[in-house]
Amino acid sequence: MRKFVIMGPQGSGKGTQAKMLARDFDLVHISVGDILRWHVQGRTKLGTTVQRYMNEGRLVPDEIVSEVVKWRLDIHDWRYGFVLDGFPRNVAQTEFFLENFDIDAVIAIELSEETAIARMQSRRLCSGCALDYNLIQLRPKVPEVCDNCGGRLVTRPDDTPEAIRARLSEYRAKTHPILDLLREKELIVTVDGTPAPDIVQAEMRRRLGLVAPSTEAREPAGAAKAGS
Ligand code: AMP
Repeated sequence: MRKFVIMGPQGSGKGTQAKMLARDFDLVHISVGDILRWHVQGRTKLGTTVQRYMNEGRLVPDEIVSEVVKWRLDIHDWRYGFVLDGFPRNVAQTEFFLENFDIDAVIAIELSEETAIARMQSRRLCSGCALDYNLIQLRPKVPEVCDNCGGRLVTRPDDTPEAIRARLSEYRAKTHPILDLLREKELIVTVDGTPAPDIVQAEMRRRLGLVAPSTEAREPAGAAKAGS
């Protein structure tokens, strides 16, 4: 069983990295942002409550997200473990999380604000299947059209310059300080998110002592301890 949390400023590629890790290790990728966006898109009661916060790039109130995370983890469909993406994001959420769940490591992706802004401005999302694209690193074959479902690619409503500024400022003020809290518990593994996704992923696995299942039988990975 492997239980990871992945953190990083917006644009650091945490969603992409979480998906790559989940795919190769049979983990369930749980993205709090995706769950909230699903509610907004479906105009559920929860979606209506959180939409304004999200569009303005502000954090959704703790009680709401904590409830969402608890509900999602309680489904227990994660037989081999999970990668939790986008939670915790402030001190209160971290305390709630550490009290309620056991995790193996927190993967923190680091990225300069300059690069984060450039990446967010080039980000597109499929309006059909919600696949992520990046016009710098991960371009669709046909401009503005999803490779997967042919849907139209759109800009996320929270990728406007004002919302980007607000989200990065929330990250700096509220999320970054929790790294120290997690470091005290020796749970953190930090990786540089600047290189291409494959390189970031390889470094992440090296730091975590993870070997993909196909090669695991031949090269047993020493269970690495987080904290480096
Ligand atoms: P993300 O897709 O991870 O960038 O999240 C998109 C938006 O969802 C954030 O800007 C917040 O408005 C909201 N959100 C996601 N996770 C959390 C969280 N742990 N706490 C509060 N708000 C969150």
